[in-house]
Amino acid sequence: MTAAEISVGGLTKAFGSGDGRIVAVDDVSLTIAGGSVVALTGSSGSGKSTLLHLLGAIERADAGEIVVGGTAITALGRRGLAAYRRSIGFVFQRYHLLPALTAEDNVIAPVQPFRVAYDKRARARELLAAVGLAGRESALPSQLSGGQQQRVGIARALMGEPSLLLADEPTGNLDSATSGEILDLLLGLRGMTIVVATHEQQVADRCDRVLRLRDGRLLPE
Ligand code: ADP
Ligand code: MG
Repeated sequence: MTAAEISVGGLTKAFGSGDGRIVAVDDVSLTIAGGSVVALTGSSGSGKSTLLHLLGAIERADAGEIVVGGTAITALGRRGLAAYRRSIGFVFQRYHLLPALTAEDNVIAPVQPFRVAYDKRARARELLAAVGLAGRESALPSQLSGGQQQRVGIARALMGEPSLLLADEPTGNLDSATSGEILDLLLGLRGMTIVVATHEQQVADRCDRVLRLRDGRLLPE
């Protein structure tokens, strides 16, 4: 695994039109060193999720450039974007597990349609063990606690050996003790760049660097 450096210039994304137009990400420029753990903070509506979605190529920018690991992802076509999305991991606040699949099958799901160089089932089991879920491979999401579901979410994000891990309020649905455990797990990961969107100060305090957004604009550090 290699940790991707990120470089963003003049990044802008607006929603709506006319009086209802909202500039969710407003002319953002930044660089993030490969291997660092960066918090993206700001109050609700400040543009954290939108910036994360742009970095993850879940949303398309209106203007500006994003370079991840030497590739200008804002210039990629459909196939390039699909390959890029497979090279990163995304962790969601509400886990987004598929309810009918076991923990193990949820972890395998992102790579299921693809030919990969490793044994998918063996790797999923290894990752579930690494996140503390050995023995729960066959559990359905409904049989797992919130913290356990987020552990599955993290294992799933790691399945494709990501060079970049994006986490959007990963502890936002958890009690404070469980949040601490999930944060220990995330911040203990090595070999990748990590960007965590959070409005919680105690999460930001534990990252290498804190980026602050207000009304879509990046505040001076
Ligand atoms: P945060 O994650 O910091 O709470 P978001 O990135 O979700 O902020 O939202 C930033 C702004 O963009 C908000 O005003 C929000 O209402 C708006 N927004 C986000 N996504 C959409 C969307 N799909 N359609 C319309 N407005 C959106
Ligand atoms: Mg958000």
